[in-house]
Amino acid sequence: MIVVMKPGSSQDAISRVTKRIEDAGLKAHISEGIEHTVIGVLGKVFPELRDSLELLPGVEQVIPVSKPYKLTSREFHPKDTIVKVDGVAIGGNEIVVMAGPCAIESEEQLLATAQAVKAAGATVLRGGAFKPRTSPYDFRGLGATGLEILAAVGKETKMPVITEVMAPHDVDLVARYVDILQIGARNMQNFILLDEVGKIKKPVLLKRGLSSTIQEWLLAAEYILNQGNENVILCERGIRTFETFTRNTMDISSIPVIEKASHLPIIADPSHATGKWYLVSPMALAAIAAGADGLLIEVHPNPDSALADGPQSLNFDGFRLLMSQLLLIAQARNRKLATPSAKTKP
Ligand code: PEP
Ligand code: MN
Repeated sequence: MIVVMKPGSSQDAISRVTKRIEDAGLKAHISEGIEHTVIGVLGKVFPELRDSLELLPGVEQVIPVSKPYKLTSREFHPKDTIVKVDGVAIGGNEIVVMAGPCAIESEEQLLATAQAVKAAGATVLRGGAFKPRTSPYDFRGLGATGLEILAAVGKETKMPVITEVMAPHDVDLVARYVDILQIGARNMQNFILLDEVGKIKKPVLLKRGLSSTIQEWLLAAEYILNQGNENVILCERGIRTFETFTRNTMDISSIPVIEKASHLPIIADPSHATGKWYLVSPMALAAIAAGADGLLIEVHPNPDSALADGPQSLNFDGFRLLMSQLLLIAQARNRKLATPSAKTKP
């Protein structure tokens, strides 16, 4: 249920509404819209509460919300959420490109990649340290050493950095080294992990689960917001279908669906969605055309020798080409590409 206040309603009127909600044992969530203040009611609502809220001064209307996700919904929070990371804004007018290797293999590999992707226009550096691998015999990342390399290269190249956190007990460790914590597709419904990243203040990138519906994905985000962390970025990374030609099927339509259903920023990962390097650019361009706020792209100095996800990694030339094409699509959507100089990190 949401309470829409009349335009220009007083602080006193807003307080009376929140008090009435809290007195009923429920939680009130205030969101300032452009014209209206909207107060979301969290918890099990009952019809009498609706009637009594409707009578309070300053209340324009009380609308029931039938969807199970609340804090992530547009109804609760009409204005776009803009997640700020070290001077880079995700979810505003600028398109933010995050790029780097699937897995951090060495300082040389990461530094060379960081310099190349930054020169081409990427604003955030990605690199996996704790890698979820389908087979236990595959390279599972450098772990804590990888985090150290990532933080050092981020500092040297003045790029904010993102990496995946796989376990609840690693959240504090990972948060010490990186600017954005990634929850991978396989962990989208690891509710203990979602609670843990909800307790910190750093931005969280939440990938869509391998076989998750959009509603399940938004409910996973709801776990993080419900713990108090509103800095959540959603990431479409393809879903499993009957198709085997591609690694997953990129659900481009989820981008405008999310834009309508939620205030959270949404970016796309065409690397994991397709599994094939030559499909990465077409899907990246399509995602931006569909309204995505950014991209997460795997780039490697020499994809043939990559320890993880080489077949879907762009080389430096491929990434540069993509960035030049991206400019035109961004313009068509009346958006700009975020510039690396926008960062404030020393
Ligand atoms: C990744 O980005 O490194 C990754 C493992 O992606 P996903 O969780 O989408 O498979
Ligand atoms: Mn990967």
